[in-house]
Amino acid sequence: MKKGDYKLIQALNRSKILNKIRTEGPISRIDLAKKNSLSPSTVASAVQELIREGYVSEMGTGSSSGGRKPILLRFNPDNHYLFAVAITNSVMTLARMNLEAKVLKRETHKIAGLQGEAVIERLLHLMDDFIAGQETEGAERCVGISITVPGIVSSSEGIVHYNTKLRMVNVPLKRIFEERYGIQTWVENDMNSIVLAERRFGDYAYPNLIYISIGDGLGSGILIHDHLLHGMHGGAGEFGHTSVDRSGLRCECGNVGCLDSYISWLAIYSRIITAIATGRPTLIQELSGGDYNKIVPSVFKEALHRGDKLANDLNEEVAEHLGAAIVNLINMFNPQALILGGDMAHGNPELLDMIRVYIDRHAMPILKDDLLFGLASLGEEDKLIGAASILLQDLFGFSLTE
Ligand SMILES: [Zn+2]
Repeated sequence: MKKGDYKLIQALNRSKILNKIRTEGPISRIDLAKKNSLSPSTVASAVQELIREGYVSEMGTGSSSGGRKPILLRFNPDNHYLFAVAITNSVMTLARMNLEAKVLKRETHKIAGLQGEAVIERLLHLMDDFIAGQETEGAERCVGISITVPGIVSSSEGIVHYNTKLRMVNVPLKRIFEERYGIQTWVENDMNSIVLAERRFGDYAYPNLIYISIGDGLGSGILIHDHLLHGMHGGAGEFGHTSVDRSGLRCECGNVGCLDSYISWLAIYSRIITAIATGRPTLIQELSGGDYNKIVPSVFKEALHRGDKLANDLNEEVAEHLGAAIVNLINMFNPQALILGGDMAHGNPELLDMIRVYIDRHAMPILKDDLLFGLASLGEEDKLIGAASILLQDLFGFSLTE
C-alpha cells in the first residue's frame, strides 16, 4: 500500500462511510448519505474509491419505494490482509488475518529462554520466512503489521520500553520492522490490545471496560470512553504491581507486597510445592505423578474440581486478594464491565463466583449495581485479535461508538 493511500484512508468522511458499510451493510449510497449527513456526491466519490481499492463491493439491489432499485454496498474484509504478531514471555505467534480479525494462517514458535537481542533476531528470522511464504503478487494488499508484547510499551513511539522476562529494554520495534519490511507497523501492550478486542470483536461492547488477566503474571487493560489508558510511557495498568501488603515480599519492580507475588500462577505454584514438601496431602501430587514440572494450571484446576482441600484453599485466597484489588479498580474507574481472563480464570467458575460475591459485598453500591463481571470471550486467539484491533482502529478509524 502506498503512503498516499493511508492519507486517503484516514480522511474522516471516507472512514465514516467505510464504517457504516461495515457495520450496517449491505447499504445503499443514498442511505449512507442520509445516515452520515453527507452529500450524495461526497458519498459517491468516496464509495468509488473504496470499490476501486477493494474495501467495498457492490451486490444485489435493495428495496425501493418506487423508481430504480438502489445497488447495495458491502464491506469486503478479504481483499486485504494484515500480519499480527503476538509475543508472550514464552512463545511468538505470527498470523495473517483479514480485516475482520479472522485468522487465515498462523504459526507459533517457542522463545525457548532467549533474551534481549536474541529474541528480536529470532522474531525477524521467523517474520522473514512468514512473509516470504505469502503469495508475492498480493503484497500491495497488506495493510500493515501489528505486534503485541507484554511489558511497558509506548504505542505512540512503537518502542518496547521494558520487559523483565525477555530482557527487552527500549527496543524500537516499530522502526526495526518498518525499515526491514517497508510495511507500516504498530506495537502495543498485549493487555491493552485484548481489552480493545473484547470491545470490538468480543462479547463486551462497552466503552468503559477493564480486562484483567491472571496467569503466569497479572495484567490489565483499561478502556475509558473508548480510549485505551496508556499513561506517559505506556505503563498504565500494571495491576500486578499494586501493593497489597506493606510488609510483604520485595518485588523485582522495586515495590513491596505486590499482588503479583501473591496470586500469579508462579506464586500459587511455589505455594503448592511448599505444601507438598511439608507433607500436606493433596491430589495435585497424584495428578502430576510426583513430577514438579507437571504441576500446571490445568492440574491445579483438575484438583479443584475433584474437591482437593489445598487447591480449594489456594483458590479462596486468590479470590480474596483479587476481589480486593478488583474492587479498588471498580471504585477508581467505574467501568461498565470488568472481564477476567488468563489460565487461572478459564475453567475456574468457583473463582469467578467468589469474586462476584466479594464485589457485591465491598464495592460502592452505585458503582457495582449495573456492573457486568464476566469471563473473557475471545479464547486462544485473543492476542492476535487484539493486535488486529489496534491496527484496524488506527488505520481505518473503525469507530467503536456505533
Ligand atoms: Zn512489583
